[in-house]
Parts: sequence; C-alpha cells; structure tokens
Amino acid sequence: MKINKLAVLTSGGDAPGMNACIRAVVRTAAFYGIDVVGVENGYEGLINKEFKQLETRSVSFIINQGGTILYTARSEKFRTEEGRALAAQNLQSAGVSALVVIGGDGSFRGAQKLNEEHNIPVIGLPATIDNDIYGTDLTIGFTTALNTATEAIDKIRDTASSHNRLFLVEVMGRNSGALAVSVGIAIGAKATLVPERKTTKHELFAQLRKGVVENKKSNIIVIAEGSKLGNAYNLAKDIKEQFDQFDIRVSILGHVQRGGNPCATDRILASQLGVAAVEGLIDGKSNCMAGVQNNQLIYRSLNEVVENQGQENEEYLRIANILSI
Ligand code: ADP
Repeated sequence: MKINKLAVLTSGGDAPGMNACIRAVVRTAAFYGIDVVGVENGYEGLINKEFKQLETRSVSFIINQGGTILYTARSEKFRTEEGRALAAQNLQSAGVSALVVIGGDGSFRGAQKLNEEHNIPVIGLPATIDNDIYGTDLTIGFTTALNTATEAIDKIRDTASSHNRLFLVEVMGRNSGALAVSVGIAIGAKATLVPERKTTKHELFAQLRKGVVENKKSNIIVIAEGSKLGNAYNLAKDIKEQFDQFDIRVSILGHVQRGGNPCATDRILASQLGVAAVEGLIDGKSNCMAGVQNNQLIYRSLNEVVENQGQENEEYLRIANILSI
C-alpha cells in the first residue's frame, strides 16, 4: 500500500522499551520514505490533535530510555463513537493514512474500532509489563520488569535471611500472574500467588508449616496484585495469626517495575516489532498485531488477539511449585 505519512502513539500502561519501539517505527518509515507524525498522550492526543513531526534525529538517544517520549494516557472520549470520529477526522486532515498503536489489549480494542468505523489502516504492537497478550511470546517491557523485580527481591532476601524473616512481596499484575510466576521462579519463592489460581489459605499455611518444621532460614512469598487471597497486608495478618514465630514484613514493589532502562531483550523486540509494523502496513496488512512466537514474526488479527487470553501460566506455576519444596 502506498503510504506517505503514518502516525504512531503509545497508549494505556507504560512499559520500558516503548521508546525503542517509537524509534524503530520512525527510522523504518524514514528508510522507506514515509513521514511520521508522533501523537502525544495516546488516543486523548489523537482527539486533541497533539501532533508533532518526528524525524530520524528526533529519536536519537532514546533506545535506552524508559517511559515514552510521546507520553501515554487513558482516554474516555475515545471509547465513544464521537471521540473516534474526531480522531479519524484529525488524522485525515493531517494527511495521515495509517496508524501504529503501541500498547496493551485495551489499546488494541480502540484501534480495532477506529479501523472498522473509519477504515484507517492500523497495526498494534504489544507493550505491557504484564505479558498477557495473545499472539506473542513476550510483550515489550516484560523482561525488563522481570529483571527489576528479581534484583529488588534478591536484595530483600539478603535482609530476610539475616533476620529470619518472612517477606510477602507484591508484584504488579491485576489480572495476570505472568510477571509474578516468572519472578517466583527467578527468586526461588516459597510460594507464588496469582490471580489465575485459587490457592487457599489452608494450602499456603501447610506449605509454610513444612518450612517451619525444616527450619528454613528465610521465606519469600511472591503475590500478584490481583491474587484471590487478598492484598499483601491482610494476608500478612492472617499468617501472623497462625505463625506467631514469624517476623513478617510486606514489600510492595509498585511502580519501580514500570521504570528503568529497557534491557537488551526488550530493545531488540521493540526494534523488531517497530520494523514489522511499518513493513506490514506497506504490504497492505491492517487491523492486526505484530508479535513474535517461537522466534517467528507473526501478524494476527486484532480481533483474534483481543478475544483470546494471553499464554497460560500453568506450566510455570507447576515448576514454581515443584521447586519450592
Ligand atoms: P492497555 O492498552 O494498557 O490495556 P487500557 O485498557 O487502559 O490500557 O486502554 C487504553 C485506552 O484504549 C483506553 O483509555 C481507551 O481510550 C482505549 N480503549 C480501551 N478499550 C476500548 C474499547 N473497548 N473501545 C474503544 N476504546 C478502548
């Protein structure tokens, strides 16, 4: 398809590697002689016409930067037909003929509607620390967040074992335990609690009791934000009632997991997908997401992506469970 100008935006939750992805989109477009408009503040900026021209040199020195130079936002207006009509009109009047959306599945639902209602070619690129998107083995930002959480908990373990403490460490993931379960394996957690699995308190206490009998020096429990056992502070109280001997501490890792320089894996994935978005649009692909599965670049329809769950965490949960013996 002949494209003279495309737009790129970042939307929804931010993730390390979004900048590397913007850079790749801009540079690939320049390689093929296509102009790029950067849209600030996600869909909100599309509605408010927050556009700026991006050149090859506008994206220098950002491959290693966390956050997003285009900012990100959530937009209620874009959820309405009127909002999307205004967004489409703004793109058309700026001479933009295709859009690249870097974000999570919510952002893809929006992109899908914009495409279906206004026939604007769109390609989505998966970027979220949650790794909960169907059609890609990894999302941009996940590996960096995993490394950040792992390093932080390694430090917590040093103090935990010095004082014979039990730590409950909460990691991000409201609906998905992908980050928590990977962190749980990486740090050697005593237990990993995720939204997808209904571990009962009874099961957790039995596991801890075994550690007591074996005189374990430190215990770290990784709990995803959305775990069905409730928040870390309440769970700490419940454990204390059962195990008076534990000196229990809670640590909420919070937004540090979203920040920091993207690791090499995220930079490479972001670069690969940025190139794939522009080349896909040139090839006439639209209303789809570019992802990598089994080392292969794959385009899947946005419909398929948003209608399906991200990968199952069952196998990793099983491994975490075996190794926490
Ligand atoms: P993420 O992309 O990280 O999952 P959100 O779910 O917050 O983040 O979605 C980002 C934005 O995408 C929302 O603020 C909204 O503007 C748009 N969006 C999400 N879901 C829809 C939908 N069903 N229809 C239209 N726009 C949507």
